[in-house]
Amino acid sequence: MRVLVVEDDEGIATGLQAHLGQLGWAVDLTDSVESAWTALCVEPFDLVLLDLGLRDGDGAEVLRRLRRAPAGRLPDASTPVLVMTARDQVAARIECLDMGADDYVTKPFDPDELAARMRALRRRSVGRAQPLIHAGALEIDPASRSVRRDGQPVELSAREFGVLLALLEVRPRVLSRPQIEARLYSWDKALDSNAVEVHVHHLRRKLGDTVIRTLRGVGYFVPEDKA
Ligand code: CA
Repeated sequence: MRVLVVEDDEGIATGLQAHLGQLGWAVDLTDSVESAWTALCVEPFDLVLLDLGLRDGDGAEVLRRLRRAPAGRLPDASTPVLVMTARDQVAARIECLDMGADDYVTKPFDPDELAARMRALRRRSVGRAQPLIHAGALEIDPASRSVRRDGQPVELSAREFGVLLALLEVRPRVLSRPQIEARLYSWDKALDSNAVEVHVHHLRRKLGDTVIRTLRGVGYFVPEDKA
């Protein structure tokens, strides 16, 4: 999952980046309305964590612009937004929810609760009610980042898990290599040009050849289970 954090308190921002990064998510930081808007215009994000009091204005302005964006291109108007507010900002929370925010937390928040809310938003945004994902002989738990194959645990690296989850969330659609990379890597992470191929190779070795298919010249996909 690729996350944009919009927060001008450096301590909170870097703390979020560290905590969410440990969960295998790619986290980019911006600290103003304008830098957040620029980021949303050039990169696809799966979720936005939005602070309201930013150094150049009200974070709600990012939300307002995002929800008014035209469909079919960046910025993606349907991107889930989770607002981070102070405990006494009740009116601002109501305004943001009515403006199209999907959820909120009040500061100070528990990072594990925030992560669980983010997983819940992600489930909803990809149209999935069940917390566990099943594909053939596999059972995937995004919360514990664990995978079982025929009931037996399989060890995956954080990146391998990220590739698998990205493909499962859009199953059976095809993701190109750049689309997978955009979900896995934030701006500050250099990546090898063949990193995705290497992860897919390892995933096939651990999970079997039939889970992740290649559509030559286009990308990768996980087919639907046969009825
Ligand atoms: Ca702030």
